[in-house]
Amino acid sequence: MRARTADLMQAAYGRYALGAFNVCNLEQVHGLFRGATQAKAPILVQFSRVIRHYAHPRMLEQMLRAAEAVYPEVTFAVHLDHGDAASCADAIQSGDYGSVMIDASHLPFEANIAATRQVVAQAHARGIAVEAELGLLQGIEDGMTPHAQEAILTDPAQAEEFVRRTGCDSLAVAIGTSHGAYKFAGNQRLHFERLAEIQRRLPGFPLVLHGGSAVPAEEVARINAAGGALDLSASGVADAELAQAVRFGVVKVNIGTDGRLIWTRVHREFFRQQPKEFDFMPPGRVYMEAYAAFVAAKCAKLGWPPAGDTGPRERLGG
Ligand SMILES: [Zn+2]
Repeated sequence: MRARTADLMQAAYGRYALGAFNVCNLEQVHGLFRGATQAKAPILVQFSRVIRHYAHPRMLEQMLRAAEAVYPEVTFAVHLDHGDAASCADAIQSGDYGSVMIDASHLPFEANIAATRQVVAQAHARGIAVEAELGLLQGIEDGMTPHAQEAILTDPAQAEEFVRRTGCDSLAVAIGTSHGAYKFAGNQRLHFERLAEIQRRLPGFPLVLHGGSAVPAEEVARINAAGGALDLSASGVADAELAQAVRFGVVKVNIGTDGRLIWTRVHREFFRQQPKEFDFMPPGRVYMEAYAAFVAAKCAKLGWPPAGDTGPRERLGG
C-alpha cells in the first residue's frame, strides 16, 4: 500500500524512525519488501539521482509498481534522494513519488533557500513533500560532488530560519554522520546537543539523518576475507545512537551503504566458494534473503514497532 511520506513521518515522530533504503535492482527490491513484510514495518524506498541515471527513472518506478502488487501488505512511500531541480521536477511529474529531496546544501545559505523554495512550490502543488538539507556531510555518495573535506555541522538558528522561509517538510541535518563506507575514523560520535537544540527550535518538525549505515565490522571483515580490500578501521553509526536520535525528532534514517556491503559480501563469498558457478540466481537468492533479514532487523533497531502498536495500517486508518 502506497502512503504519503508526510503521513508516515507524522506517525513516526518521536516514536520510531523510518528506514529509507536506497535500492536500484530487482534483488534489492524483493529483499526490501520481504524484510518490510517480516517486520510489518512502514518503509521509505529511495532512488538517488545517480541511480535514476543508471537504471532509468521509469524502470525503477515500474519496478515499485510491481512490488506494490506483489507485496500488497507493505506500507511504503517513494522518495527521491539527493535530487537537483531537474530530477525533482521529473519525479514530481511522474506521480510515483511521495516526497523529493532537493539537495542544495553545497550552495550558500540564501541560494539554498531559493532553490528549495522553488521545488517546494512545485511539489506542494501536487501534494508531494520536500526534504531539504542544511549543512555538509563528509563522504561520497552516488557520485555526488565529493565536497566536504571537513563537515559543516548544521547551525540550529539557521535551521529554524531555513525551515520557516522555505516551507520544506523535513530537513536533513549534519550532526556528525557521513556518506559512504568510510565513516568515523576514531571515536567521533553524533552531536546530540546540537540535535537537541535544533529540535528545541523546530518542535515537532521531522528531521532526517543521512549516512545512517552501521558498516558492521564483521561484514567488512568477511568481504576482505573473500578478496576485498575495504578499510577495516571504518565504522558507521551505532544502532543505539540511531535509537537515541529518534527521541530528538529524527523520523527518517538513510541507509544505502549497508545494503551494498551485504551485496558485496554475498557475491564475493559465493563466487569464491563456487568458482565454477556463473549463474546470477543462486547468489541472488542468498542476497535477497540476507537483505530482507537486514531490513527487518534495521526497522527494529529504529524503534519499530513502537510500544502499543500493532501495525502501520491500523495507525494510518488505512
Ligand atoms: Zn545523503
